[in-house]
Amino acid sequence: MKENFKSGFAAIIGRPNVGKSTLMNHLIGQKIAITSKKPQTTRNKIQTVYTDEQGQIVFLDTPGIHKAKNKLGEYMVGVAERTLKDADVALWLVEPTNFVGAGERHIAEQLKKNGLPVILIINKIDTVKKEEVLQFIDTYRKIMDFAEIIPCSALRGQNTDDIIGCIFKYLPYGPAFYDEDTITDQPIRQIVAEIIREKSLHALDEEIPHGIAVAIDVMKQRPDGRVWDIDATIICEKDSHKGIIIGKQGSMLKKIGTNARYEIEQLLECRANLKLWVKVKRDWRDSDFLMKNFGYDKKEV
Ligand code: GDP
Ligand code: MG
Repeated sequence: MKENFKSGFAAIIGRPNVGKSTLMNHLIGQKIAITSKKPQTTRNKIQTVYTDEQGQIVFLDTPGIHKAKNKLGEYMVGVAERTLKDADVALWLVEPTNFVGAGERHIAEQLKKNGLPVILIINKIDTVKKEEVLQFIDTYRKIMDFAEIIPCSALRGQNTDDIIGCIFKYLPYGPAFYDEDTITDQPIRQIVAEIIREKSLHALDEEIPHGIAVAIDVMKQRPDGRVWDIDATIICEKDSHKGIIIGKQGSMLKKIGTNARYEIEQLLECRANLKLWVKVKRDWRDSDFLMKNFGYDKKEV
């Protein structure tokens, strides 16, 4: 074990849309590497794993802490409470505002009860005036004691550098829980599909707004470890769209493939042999099954 290496769990809390995923992506940034093939040993849902020479931070996704209104709600609250029990530090993301609603107060109550050190992240400060930020800090400071308060913009990467160092302050010394190259237990396929979708939308400009999904049919690393073979299908709603996506003599599809492959190779740190197909499936957006199949799980908001 490396000396002075720290490792521990950080629970991420915050309403949908507050910027949790954006912040995670930013923090792990270029560090994105291969996912681990090991089965998860923890009962928590891991969002991301960050590793550097100081240590390893395992970010835990905390499903909504709110007052339970039904069975599912109770279940979610239960998971959230257990997640907090397993965490060394909580990262609570909030909007830049002076309005602290009932939901936010409830979260504060739970965190107080739990007693974890809480780092408050006031996100999206690029959307407000600098002077206002001080007021927001003041507003939040009144509702509970925070270990730290960090205003930042996850989107623009403003003031995000301090966050990692700040989390490490609250983690114990110990060996890493995961391989150094693990970043998430989200299926790597989903990330690859998302890259292809993004490159498609980019290349297609606004011609086919939102009407595509991407499914990964095959994703296998060759036994010698040198190449990943990936077959993916771009699904669109109309025959005319299919034509546009393929392009003249396949030129558009080729462009999408080249751009996606470049990024996928960065991600996997390995050569990729990417084959793209295009299929028409009418009204896929109205189908719960297909939505889920493409990774848009409604429950996950
Ligand atoms: P999550 O639901 O908490 O995971 O939120 P997301 O990370 O998906 O972000 C929700 C929306 O807020 C997206 O459109 C982001 O681009 C946007 N967003 C996230 N962070 C920032 C930020 O710092 N500034 C601004 N202006 N928008 C942000
Ligand atoms: Mg998210």
